Amino acid sequence: MLRTGNNMKSISVRCPAKINLTFDILNRRADGYHDIETLFQSISLEDEITFTAMEADEFSVEFTCSNPYARRSMPMDSSNLIARAANALFLHTGLSRNWKIEVDIQKTIPIAAGLAGGSSDAAGTLIALNDLFDTRLGVEELCKLGVSIGADIPFCVAGGTRIGRGIGEVLTEVKPAVSLIYCIVKPRKISVSTAQAYSSYHHYKGEIRKPNIANATRGLETGDIEMALSGLGNVFEPMIFAEHPQLAELKTKLLNFGAWDCHMSGSGPTLFAVVPSREMAHHLRRALLNDDELGFFYGTDEVFTEGQPPLDIRIAESCNHGPRALVKASRD
Ligand code: ATP
Repeated sequence: MLRTGNNMKSISVRCPAKINLTFDILNRRADGYHDIETLFQSISLEDEITFTAMEADEFSVEFTCSNPYARRSMPMDSSNLIARAANALFLHTGLSRNWKIEVDIQKTIPIAAGLAGGSSDAAGTLIALNDLFDTRLGVEELCKLGVSIGADIPFCVAGGTRIGRGIGEVLTEVKPAVSLIYCIVKPRKISVSTAQAYSSYHHYKGEIRKPNIANATRGLETGDIEMALSGLGNVFEPMIFAEHPQLAELKTKLLNFGAWDCHMSGSGPTLFAVVPSREMAHHLRRALLNDDELGFFYGTDEVFTEGQPPLDIRIAESCNHGPRALVKASRD
């Protein structure tokens, strides 16, 4: 796991994305946050981050990322959630700050998509640096540190399947008897900021269908997939769909192509379709990519000039863990 030189050490960590199988807003709090109730699920779509720490005169975090789209979509400086998490860990533990930390990010999780990519990277940073610097913080303490940076980070530290209450940081473990398979679809041209989604929610006048988290949880725990699916849902869906009608169209297509069910994750715009098999997930992927109408909606020509199809489609399944440090070869 660790590689040590004279004054240099490194560690890699894989950070899984999450989806919200259910997402409900309970109320707005006096501090401006919202109390929510959500069923978080880690999925097998992961960023990989390698940290190389070397002794230096002052603390710094420097980034490299080979993916040009990711480089353009996330900050590559001290405001990156990875740098914020590293800084928080050093301050909290009182570690000597005479370290330069080089961070190489292999970004696979779509950004600003409702998949908590940034939060999972931050969670992975806390776990990896806690290990690398032997600071021995327990999961609870890492979660506490994490929530000061972002509401989804405690879940991302813990991973698996968990009900999130409060602002998402009060977690209850769920033990599913089944593992679901998903076709995860993000239109590249649409991104939604979480703040914008909450503002739309408060102005929305239409009907909102609440999810049934009890059914979703019981269904997963007993292996009754039909019951689990009957509970899924996301209260952000109607207003985000009203702002981006193509998303409703996309959902209808996913259902018509054979998905068991389909919902938006978090504040969107990513849709996750629950499918009966990996074969069906591949079938959905092919069907979407060959659908001329969708190409038209999302500006195939324009986006293809950048070498990217208009829909970012991934196949993933539920996983039962959060970030995992990788074993690395030692260097003499
Ligand atoms: P959530 O589901 O937790 O609301 P999200 O999936 O909607 O998150 P992220 O991909 O985490 O969104 O990105 C949210 C914002 O954070 C983006 O504007 C992005 O530029 C910024 N950001 C900072 N650090 C990172 C990072 N390491 N990875 C991705 N985004 C980052």
